[in-house]
Amino acid sequence: QVPLKPGRSLMDWIRLTKSGKDLTGLKGRLIEVTEDELAKHNKKEDCWICIRGFVYNVTPYMEYHPGGEDELMKAAGTDGTDLFDQVHRWVNYESMLKECLVGRMAVKPIAAPKAITLHVLAAFHDLLLLMYFLTVGQCVPCRKYAFLSLLYFLFYSYDWFQTDSLITIVIYTKQKDMNAELVIVDCQDKRLRGEIIVGSYSYLVEVDLDHAVSEDVAVNIAEKVGKVEIILKKKDNNHWNTLGQPCEGHNSFIKRTDRGLFYRKCKLVSKTEVTHDTKLFCLMLPKGTHLLVPTGQHIYLKQIITGTEVVKPYTPVLPFLPLDFQEPSHHDGVHIYLMIKIYSCGLFTQALDCLQIGDYISVSNPEGYFNKSQVQTSEDLILLAGGTGFTPMVKLLNFALAEVSCLRTVKLIFFNKTEDDILWRNQLEQLALKDERFDVQFILSQPTKDWVGRQGKISSSLLSEFVKRSRKDSKVLICICGPTPFTEQGVQYLKDLGYSQEEIHAFTA
Ligand code: FAD
Ligand code: NAD
Repeated sequence: QVPLKPGRSLMDWIRLTKSGKDLTGLKGRLIEVTEDELAKHNKKEDCWICIRGFVYNVTPYMEYHPGGEDELMKAAGTDGTDLFDQVHRWVNYESMLKECLVGRMAVKPIAAPKAITLHVLAAFHDLLLLMYFLTVGQCVPCRKYAFLSLLYFLFYSYDWFQTDSLITIVIYTKQKDMNAELVIVDCQDKRLRGEIIVGSYSYLVEVDLDHAVSEDVAVNIAEKVGKVEIILKKKDNNHWNTLGQPCEGHNSFIKRTDRGLFYRKCKLVSKTEVTHDTKLFCLMLPKGTHLLVPTGQHIYLKQIITGTEVVKPYTPVLPFLPLDFQEPSHHDGVHIYLMIKIYSCGLFTQALDCLQIGDYISVSNPEGYFNKSQVQTSEDLILLAGGTGFTPMVKLLNFALAEVSCLRTVKLIFFNKTEDDILWRNQLEQLALKDERFDVQFILSQPTKDWVGRQGKISSSLLSEFVKRSRKDSKVLICICGPTPFTEQGVQYLKDLGYSQEEIHAFTA
């Protein structure tokens, strides 16, 4: 993020798009854009960008872009889809830039989503070749079809069966470490959507069911063999002839980044104060949803603000910090807790703060690159958090203390402006008293004169004082999260202090 000029906030942009001003210079006409034409519009004062086959005149948006003009100019006059996907594919540009739409590309410049078939082809070339020859006796279209089907069933497939009262959909993932966090199911209004996450790929079953089902959905996983069962209860005990009508994307296995974010509406069930400006929001998933947000991952919230869809990422936390780790912590699978700072001039958080108990908000599937296995082998875990950058540390801290047996020390170094800004201070101090492996250090950047603790901002000297291995050769993982400059500087200082890339995890968008 770069500082924007006054009058150039997202809200100001939304106002401009609603003003009726001709933002494309085409008086509402939509045109077909050739690659040559697109390439001509490559200057700050005349800038067109193509995203997923649609061309936008982003010239009026330049000064409002949160990432700055230079970032936007990287895609000037070209197809910016890949760049956009790398930086923020979750931003709903269709809504944000709808008044800037110039038209479609004359020839669609982006390739179709890269299906697994390409990777599979490379890996199993010989086997596939053999299969191909087995089908050569058939006519060309049949051959192609038979070939693709064979190829497909080698990897992913689903099946279904019924009893008088139940429908069971079975997906054979062939993944040995399949678990409940990798299966996301939504069943509402006769539409079933089941997504299985397999590394950076996603397999989808999505159908309009043949008959109505009740809202109770059960998910069973045979972890060892990777078999996933989605069990639905029939509303009427009649016989189904088919599972239902396949929807777009049904039975596909593609890169996760090529699959659009899926949202479901969740009910706000409580909102409690954490500090003077931060609240804990509890959202309830719909009954037909099975969704567990993995440690270290975030979700996106979506709201319509003055007619424009706005999306922002948030990292789920626990309802409180458990103090006792005898029993594994209980995830009810129904509620999502979000600790959110309300900015006085924040577009999204102001709208969020206006939500009443019982109101609904759209919540996406989880995303993020953190891998729990990074912690599982650590002996020392060091968490550097700035402000709400504390949120990913909550589940991480709990996971480490409750489930990582080789862990010797966990240290949280928590940077805030003032004492009043410290999130869950009491709980953190209690935990430090209760569990000798855990230690917390608060560092304030704008303390009052009464503050006797440490003060300052993230720096090499502060880090060299607090970030230490418990033994000379112990395995350490350092996680860092906070405002972008905090995270970037922190990573650099850590590297300067001799920590390797593998020993550092930075939480970013
Ligand atoms: P905006 O309208 O975008 O900005 C209004 C003003 O608020 C700005 O002028 C600026 O001064 C200030 N501001 C806005 N955004 C930031 C920022 N990111 N850093 C510093 N100042 C800012 N926030 C939480 O409260 N809890 C979370 O769990 C959480 N998780 C996140 C996870 C990820 C992966 C990322 C990238 C961000 C996360 N955030 C979280 C930040 C959140 O996504 C929003 O940026 C934040 O809520 C502000 O949104 P807004 O629309 O209200 O502010
Ligand atoms: P804040 O402005 O209250 O700052 C908290 C502390 O961070 C400060 O006391 C200071 O020590 C440090 N800090 C702030 N600005 C700095 C700078 N420019 N250089 C060095 N250190 C600095 O923080 P906040 O308003 O609570 O913001 C928290 C940030 O964390 C937001 O930017 C949010 O987007 C980010 N966040 C990211 C994730 C993620 O997963 N990527 C999750 C949660 C929050």
